[in-house]
Amino acid sequence: MAEIEFRHVSKIFEKGSAAVKDLNLQIHDQELVMIIGPSGCGKSTTLRMLAGLETATEGSILIDGTDVTKTEPGKRGLSMVFQNYALYPQMNIYNNIAFALKVRGMSKTEVDKRVREVAELMQITPLLKRRPAQVSGGQRQRVAIAAAIAREAKAYLMDEPLSNLDAKLRASMRVEVAKLHNRLHATIVYVTHDQVEAMTLADRIVIMNKGEVQQVAAPNELYRNPVNDFVAGFVGSPQMNFLPVTMVRESGGWTLQADGIRAALPEAIAADVQASSLWEEENRKAGKLVLGLRPEELVLTDKGGEEISMLTQVCENLGAEEFLYGQIGTASDPALQPDVVRQMTTVRASYRTGVKTSDRISLKAAPESWKLFDPDNGKNLCYKAPAEAPEKREARA
Ligand code: ATP
Repeated sequence: MAEIEFRHVSKIFEKGSAAVKDLNLQIHDQELVMIIGPSGCGKSTTLRMLAGLETATEGSILIDGTDVTKTEPGKRGLSMVFQNYALYPQMNIYNNIAFALKVRGMSKTEVDKRVREVAELMQITPLLKRRPAQVSGGQRQRVAIAAAIAREAKAYLMDEPLSNLDAKLRASMRVEVAKLHNRLHATIVYVTHDQVEAMTLADRIVIMNKGEVQQVAAPNELYRNPVNDFVAGFVGSPQMNFLPVTMVRESGGWTLQADGIRAALPEAIAADVQASSLWEEENRKAGKLVLGLRPEELVLTDKGGEEISMLTQVCENLGAEEFLYGQIGTASDPALQPDVVRQMTTVRASYRTGVKTSDRISLKAAPESWKLFDPDNGKNLCYKAPAEAPEKREARA
């Protein structure tokens, strides 16, 4: 049983600005929560405060309802795996795993049983007699995780445990961590800058930027219903396309328009956007929006530039899918539009498109998938706050 709670936690380092600002977060028992965000956003500081390796400047941290904000690390009942996991080079792998257990006064038989259990779980049994230098990087990482989980802990904290591995090993270790979580039924708090790792592993993701939590949600929810353009841009690979547009009232209804874009905006979405208090007044008056479209949501249409017109500049064929990169707009040569700062737009197709470099293509996207952001504050004007859990509503009543 391990419920973890951060209540208004902030961390300000000496002479620094706030590394973590007013963090409020509840982690449930047996949950795998991943903290993600760009470098320097405060992920590791959050984890280190939970572990007791940093002291919170403000706020409190609770484990199972007990305030541990000032409790020393060894007494919090947590186990941690670091990015640069340290193994004792002179000890064999068996002893590396056994060490922390012996120090805690576990009997020899118990130690042996536990080491063999976790070695089996992490599939390193054949390596137990070797020294760390005699196994591969991926195997060393498994040993480090095995050593951390050998200890019975209330929760396991992992700081980029897979970051030193190459892409292939990372992918297979991801699967191992998922299996591990299923078998351990433990609370795991896991820090990574890799959004793919988070999307595939997490029960819930906490996404941070500049010390502040942007959104806490299940991976799919974060992907489908991002609270702002930061979350929308951080989650998903390749990144979401952001296209500046103007919302225009025409005889038949609302349209989104820009050079190369002319798309009918369904009444319901137009009404949502207009009712949104997040749309800044100046932008509302001018109808200014940013349209967010994920690469896989853009599909080719043969209607001849009816919705979105793109000049293709690069085509990548990866076998199972194709990526088309280009400029949205009507100019025959994007270089002729130096006043328009345009991002490359990405289209991801899971079929053979037959499109070549310099082809002009027409694209469309189902309006249900559109995201509409305020161009200045970046808020998602169509964001739907999830319904509050019934137990929370009751607790407040
Ligand atoms: P990364 O992905 O690069 O590890 P992170 O999201 O884990 O980054 P933190 O390590 O938590 O970020 O750092 C958050 C901020 O706090 C950064 O601006 C960092 O420079 C600062 N910081 C971290 N540790 C210290 C320290 N001991 N003293 C002063 N500033 C620090």
